[in-house]
This record gives sequence, C-alpha cells and structure tokens, in this order.
Amino acid sequence: MSDPTPETPETEKPKAPGTPEEITRKLEDFIKNTLGGQVLFTRVEGPGGHPALEGGEKPVEPTRQDNGKAFEFSYKPADIKAYLDRFVIRQDEAKKVLATAVCDHYHHARMLRDDRESESTGSKLEFSKQNVIIIGPTGVGKTYLVKHIADLIGVPFVKADATKFSETGYVGADVDDLVRDLVAKANGDIELAEHGIIYLDEIDKLSSGPERLGRDVSGRGVQTALLKLMEETEVALYAPNDIRSQMQMMFDTRKGRTGREVVNTRNILFIVSGAFSGLEKIIEKRTNRKSIGFVSSDSKSTAAEHLFRESRTKDFIDFGFEAEFIGRLPVRVVCDPLSADDMFQIMKNSEGSLIRQYQREFAAYGVKAVFEDDALREIASRAEDEKTGARGLVTAWERVLRDFKFEMPSLGLPELRIDGALVKDPEQRLVQCRAEAASQVMELGAAHAGEVRVFAERFQREHGFTLDFDSAAIAAVAARAQREGMHVDAMCEKLFKDYPFGLKLVTRTTGDTRFTLTSEAVANPDKYVSELVVNACRQHPQQTPSNVIDPTPDIPAHES
Ligand code: ADP
Repeated sequence: MSDPTPETPETEKPKAPGTPEEITRKLEDFIKNTLGGQVLFTRVEGPGGHPALEGGEKPVEPTRQDNGKAFEFSYKPADIKAYLDRFVIRQDEAKKVLATAVCDHYHHARMLRDDRESESTGSKLEFSKQNVIIIGPTGVGKTYLVKHIADLIGVPFVKADATKFSETGYVGADVDDLVRDLVAKANGDIELAEHGIIYLDEIDKLSSGPERLGRDVSGRGVQTALLKLMEETEVALYAPNDIRSQMQMMFDTRKGRTGREVVNTRNILFIVSGAFSGLEKIIEKRTNRKSIGFVSSDSKSTAAEHLFRESRTKDFIDFGFEAEFIGRLPVRVVCDPLSADDMFQIMKNSEGSLIRQYQREFAAYGVKAVFEDDALREIASRAEDEKTGARGLVTAWERVLRDFKFEMPSLGLPELRIDGALVKDPEQRLVQCRAEAASQVMELGAAHAGEVRVFAERFQREHGFTLDFDSAAIAAVAARAQREGMHVDAMCEKLFKDYPFGLKLVTRTTGDTRFTLTSEAVANPDKYVSELVVNACRQHPQQTPSNVIDPTPDIPAHES
C-alpha cells in the first residue's frame, strides 16, 4: 500500500470551486473549526492516478453511480397479487389496489422516460402519481405487503415512522434522508433509487388536530416537507448539514467516484399508512351512518373498517391533514384486522410463517420440530388477545418455546412434538423431555457398556490403573461418541490419553491405583484429572508431585 503522505497546505494555489482540493479545503476548515485544529487531511495517490486506490485499481462499488441502465418493469397487477398471496394472508383488497397502483406507477414512469427520450417535441404526457394511503391497525401486514412488492420488482424500499421527523430537519431526522437511504439501499445506483418505494407508517400522527400534536413535532411542517418530495424535487445526495455525509462526499471524490449529486423524486412511489383512529367518527358524521350495530357481509371487517372504505378527501382534511398533502395520496385502501383464524392460516400457509422459522432453528441442532394444529389454534387465540395483529404470534410463541429453545439443543432428543398440551403446560412437557433424554442416554450406555469395559481392561494392562466408570459415565461416553461420530473405544482413547501421566502423580502421592470416573470426567477429562492430582496433594501435603516425580522415561510427556 502507498504510504499516506500528509498533504502540503495549499493556501497559495487558487482552486476551482467543486474540485476535490476545494472540497477538501472546505472540510478541513469545517472540521478544524469544530474540533480545534487537530485534524490533518492526508492525500494518497494511487499509481494509476486515482487518488487513494491501491495498486492502480479502478474504482469499485461506488457509493454513487449511473449505470446507464434504464429501470425495467413488465409486471401485470395479477402477477403481483399472485406473488403477494404466497406470503400475505387475507387483505385481498389491499393486494389488488396496491398491485394496480404499483403497475400504474412504474408503467407511467417508463412511458414518461420514453416520451422524454423520443425525438418528438409534440404532446407532453401528463401523469399524476399513484401514491397510496393504507388505513389499518398495527400488525396486519401493511409493511409486509409493501416489502414483498419491493422485493418482487427489485426496487429499494425504505420504511420510517412519520413521527420521527421534525420540521427543521436538525432535530431528529430530515425527510430528505429517506431519499438518501434509498440510494444506500440501492448500493449507490441512483437510477434504481429514483424508482424506489418510501413507506411511512404512523402518518395519522402528523394530522394537526390539537390532541395529536406532539411536543417537538410539527405535523404540518413535516407534511409540507413530504409534499415536496411527493411532487417532484431534487434531493442532494450528500446531506449539507451532516458531517458524515460530507466526509463521504470527499471520500468518493478522492476515489474518483464522480457523478450525479442529486436524486430526483419524480418516480419514487410513496406509500403511507396509519390506524387513523377517530377518522371513522368523521365519516360517520358526514354520511349520517351509524357504525354501531353494523354487521359486515363477510363478518370479518368491523364497523370502522366499513366506514374507512367510504372515506373522502374532505374527511382527511377534517381529520387534520393539509388539502395539498392528502391530494397527493390519491389511492386509498383499507387493511382489515386479523382474526384468530387468519393467524392460524398465517402460521399454516404463509411462506414467511414463523413456524418455518422455528423449525429451521430447531433443525440447526438436529431436532425435528413438529407443530400440531391444536397448538397453532391455541397460539392464534392468544395472539388475538394481544391486539397487536400477527405480531402477537411472536409474543405468544416466545413465551411457550423459550425454555425449549434453550434446553432442546443439549438434550439430544431427535424430535419435539409441539401440540396443544405443550402450549398449555410447557413446564410439564419440559420435565418429560428431560426424563426421556436421560433414559435414552442410559439405554445407550447399557448398549455400549461392554466396549467401555474393554477399554478399561486394556488401560489396566498397559498402565496398571483400574478405571471404574460409573453408569452415568458410560452413558455419557456412549452419547458423546454418537454425537461425534466415533467408536466408543476411540472416544475413550481420545478423552483419557493424558490419564496415565496424571494418575501416576496421584499414585505417587497417595498410593491409590483405582479410580472412579463419573460423567464429569467425560464432559471435561483434563479438569477431572487435575482435580484428582490437587486433592491428592491436599491430603498428603508433605509429598507434592514435584517432590515425588521421578522423571523416568516410562512417564509420557503431558501434552495438554
Ligand atoms: P403492520 O401492518 O403494522 O405494518 P407488519 O406488516 O409489519 O405489520 O406485520 C408484522 C409481521 O406479522 C410481518 O412481518 C409478518 O410476519 C406477519 N404478518 C402480519 N400480517 C400478515 C398477513 N396478513 N399475512 C401473513 N403474515 C402477516
């Protein structure tokens, strides 16, 4: 690597604005002013002329790039819906509306680009963006839908809670960061980032109703800032007020990574969501419809969801949104709460099911986890009580499976049957599992006791010591040999190879030649024999091993 050479101060030389030198100077000034002049910038020239590159390599993995490839999109709404059906249970209306909005959005983006690129200066295409509002309670699959759409079509996806933005952009996060995050998610591919999806949850908290205004958050200000992004604006790739971002710019410039420094938001799709509690009252008043006593035709959605489906722009304005802001979100869709049966279906049929995840986790320890339907039903009903949608499933399962996840890897049982009885009384099942594991180990031990005896007899012949393996030790040797794929005899050889030396020390101190080996000796043979030596010395302090060692050639070297 080239030696970093401190750059000579270049105050004398005039600098062109925007050159790496000028940017460096500005940063030096900024950092010196901030950190008290303790910073010295270095400039490393690679042999190939690219600053800071080793061995003249070409710049790789730029943090900004124009790959010259146009973003391609050829999906139909039904393709997207079919893909979502594999993961998301229910929410059919949301799947259809989102799939259509996404297709409209990206086809329009392509047509606009073709129109711009075409020679004709004739009619200009008009296009109003299909930004979406999803209304629905927490944990019913809103994020899950958007994430899977982004995965399928291969665009970057950024999610944030609207509440984290403050008006100024100095306290808390700056809404423009969302766009920069898209670039990061797209590995610096600006063209791809410009077709990304920004998803903002808790958007209802930005409404300016008096009860909703947070202490530091001006919902109205954030709405205005977001409005600009949703319309069309250019966002600086490097945040002007963020030192890390400015450092990154300098780093990129030095690495020869020059290119566009702004990101256009024209083709970014915005999806916002929230529970909008209280909105149903506004709709109820306007429509003169009573939500109380309402029974849905499919008996799944509640009265509020039914009313949400009739929402108008004015209802959102009455709720506390700016007319311009809500006007930029023309597509509205409602997600229904999930019933216990829906949660059962999620566990049973979603490709992203938590059950598959648990099965993989147990399988990593050689345990086959079998989930019975009655267990899933019980957990689904508990999750429904949590009132956090499908998130309640994680909470309910963790409570039940926590101890099994800890103990099963060590018990050595090949299977765990997770049924209703286990869910109702996990502690009792754990006790059964421990007992079963213990008896399996003892059975294994009984089957291999003869092999252990053969080893002990050979040890006696060769070294003159009698080893008495207790039954737990025999079982432990057999289990360990099975785990490590070895014969019992070879396992014993490996575990006790240093025992002739250690036991000789004990014999010289105490005169004993007979030793009992417990399961401790199998789990940790070196520690076990060391303790035998130490105990021997304690009992006969006048004869420490160093006094009694007779380094005759028949004592093997202690290897461990
Ligand atoms: P929110 O509606 O608050 O955005 P999420 O989409 O983040 O909730 O859901 C949390 C998790 O619950 C998801 O990651 C997914 O595993 C599961 N989940 C929620 N709803 C569904 C659904 N309808 N189908 C399948 N899984 C779901």
